[in-house]
Amino acid sequence: MGKVKGFMEYQRALPADRESLERIKDFQEFHKEMPAAELQKQGARCMDCGTPYCHTGFMLSGMTSGCPIHNLIPEWNDYVYNGFWHEAYDRLMKTNNFPEFTGRVCPAPCEGSCVLGIIEPPVTIKNIECSIIEHAFREGWVEPKTIAFRTAKRVAVVGSGPSGLACADQLNKAGHSVTVFERDDRIGGLMMYGIPNMKLDKVQIVQRRIDLMKEEGITFMESTEVGVDYPADKLLEEFDAVVLCTGATKPRDLAAEGREFPGIHYAMDFLRSSTKALLDGSAPSLTAVGKNVIVIGGGDTGTDCVATSLRQGCKSVIQLEIMPKPPIERQPDNPWPEWPRTFKVDYGQEEAADVQGEDPRKYSMMTKKFLADDAGSLKAVEVSRVEWVKEDGRFVPQPVAGTEQIIPSELVLLAMGFIGPEEHLLQQLQVARDERSNIRATEKTFMTNREQIFAAGDARRGQSLVVWAIAEGRSAARECDRFLMGSSSLP
Ligand SMILES: Cc1cc2nc3c(=O)[nH]c(=O)nc-3n(C[C@H](O)[C@H](O)[C@H](O)COP(=O)(O)OP(=O)(O)OC[C@H]3O[C@@H](n4cnc5c(N)ncnc54)[C@H](O)[C@@H]3O)c2cc1C
Ligand code: SF4
Repeated sequence: MGKVKGFMEYQRALPADRESLERIKDFQEFHKEMPAAELQKQGARCMDCGTPYCHTGFMLSGMTSGCPIHNLIPEWNDYVYNGFWHEAYDRLMKTNNFPEFTGRVCPAPCEGSCVLGIIEPPVTIKNIECSIIEHAFREGWVEPKTIAFRTAKRVAVVGSGPSGLACADQLNKAGHSVTVFERDDRIGGLMMYGIPNMKLDKVQIVQRRIDLMKEEGITFMESTEVGVDYPADKLLEEFDAVVLCTGATKPRDLAAEGREFPGIHYAMDFLRSSTKALLDGSAPSLTAVGKNVIVIGGGDTGTDCVATSLRQGCKSVIQLEIMPKPPIERQPDNPWPEWPRTFKVDYGQEEAADVQGEDPRKYSMMTKKFLADDAGSLKAVEVSRVEWVKEDGRFVPQPVAGTEQIIPSELVLLAMGFIGPEEHLLQQLQVARDERSNIRATEKTFMTNREQIFAAGDARRGQSLVVWAIAEGRSAARECDRFLMGSSSLP
């Protein structure tokens, strides 16, 4: 275990981020690393409690509790405390193909269920995870592995987000020849063109891993949309199995008067254009510069829009959230080890507060309509406060009369989540879908109604997290391997 009574001696501590007023001048990552000696103390805080809920990874009250890939957290905490970095790296790689991604972007449900968290702030699991893998890269321990044996089986993975990459990595390790198809011009899915560069560096971090995977023998076909550039039938003829990791990319729209005005865009179009411009060295096709921006939606995507708008030089930014402001402390109906539904300040809100003097989020707010100027361009948004009232056992938002307000805006970004996978390819492949429109494939077999075709990630699960996508990709790879070979030694 970590140090006996370490949790009584040391306080939870994270490395200071780059100052927000400084970091909004660029798109570089804002997290800094912690010195090894300080990290050892953080590892020492792990109690090795014997009931490590941190690595359970199941759903409680509709939210993730513990780590979905079952990272062996107490073990690597102990290794870090004792300075055994290589051992910590070995343990980490047993369960996680890409700790450099989760160590940066995971919301860390492990920390929400850490036993120490019942009485004290939890262990800084995510930061320790990130430090272990970065230490390993620096030491040169992360090298392309030679695959000793090839099976002669060919597998196509469609989609190169975290589920597709994890699946491809596992199937390649099992000796199959893997081709990853990606319709975008760069590999990585939402880790490339969704999550912005300041949270996850595209060249130094995402591309670094893809280069390794290429060296290990995986083929990547960028700019190739299956069902458009590459016929779906051909895929089934040329490959022994197919794993669909196409994501849940259909955005939720807002049915409000004036929705058609120019100036109202989906968040993903804005974020994609920003990252693409950054990587291509060009100007973004959609920009917040000089505009009053309203972001509708309070999740990760909304936060990324706030942070990107600030970096592009917006005039102001507001984030509208229909839900009420969460409480500071856990409430009795949200006990440990559930994910804490408490008030949190993410990087984008911290930056906006430092620039504008207040948190950009406005809670319990509903968009009523969009207003245009004489030329037909967006000039404002009419909003009103809502109250959540119980109707037929469900809470629903009701506008409060007299609270209407008009907020000037020339750019509205819709960040209200995603409603499921796109249909085009699924129709061509005649793959069945469930009642939420996701690909129907059980958690046991990951196989669709078509024997040769498997599914994983957001396309199967619905909009989720990078860590769930990795978990799904790994499990689908194991089931695909079992289908191809009769049995599988993949975890
Ligand atoms: C803006 C934003 C921020 C987020 N931030 C976080 C975060 O901080 N932390 C976190 O854990 N999660 C975050 N998420 C969620 C996370 O990114 C997703 O849950 C995860 O990427 C899903 O992985 P996936 O592999 O299933 O799908 P995706 O990452 O969506 O990848 C699917 C890929 O399939 C490709 N594709 C689709 N159809 C075809 C086809 N026919 N042919 C070829 N290619 C195809 C797509 O182009 C895409 O690249 C965020 C999501 C968004 C949108
Ligand atoms: S992947 Fe996420 S949940 Fe798992 S240990 Fe890392 S931060 Fe925690």
